[in-house]
Amino acid sequence: MAIERTLSIIKPDATEGSHIGDILGMVEKAGLKIIAMKMMHLSQAQAEAFYAVHAERPFFGELTEFMRRSPVVVSVLEGENAVATYREVMGATNPANADEGTIRKAFAKDVGENSVHGSDSQENAAIEIAFFFPASQLP
Ligand code: ADP
Ligand code: MG
Repeated sequence: MAIERTLSIIKPDATEGSHIGDILGMVEKAGLKIIAMKMMHLSQAQAEAFYAVHAERPFFGELTEFMRRSPVVVSVLEGENAVATYREVMGATNPANADEGTIRKAFAKDVGENSVHGSDSQENAAIEIAFFFPASQLP
């Protein structure tokens, strides 16, 4: 197994619900190291650019509006198989389908307001990490 990096976002529903500490605790318990982190309020342009891959989906407007409703916590996680490991900790996109013990099972409201983002491949992780963190801010 390889040491990888992945991008995590704690989304507005979870920051509004005061779940930041619990979610970061679940990340650390899963063996992932938080190697960079910041809390920020996304602009409309940032939300649209980050989710550009979903621009043609019917929920795009709802998604970008949601992502800028409240501040988010953006972090870079590092560990063995970090991309897949964090996707497991997150649980399924729709919390109705998420396994017990996952972040989305514990905190997510529905398929839209689902508490966390995690990169879905190493290639996208590199793109998403660079979107938020210049190389000079990473170890
Ligand atoms: P994931 O976040 O699990 O990688 P996707 O990449 O498919 O899921 O979707 C990105 C985000 O778009 C989801 O996390 C969710 O916030 C939102 N989303 C996905 N599907 C829907 C939907 N059917 N209705 C509303 N929002 C959705
Ligand atoms: Mg995705």
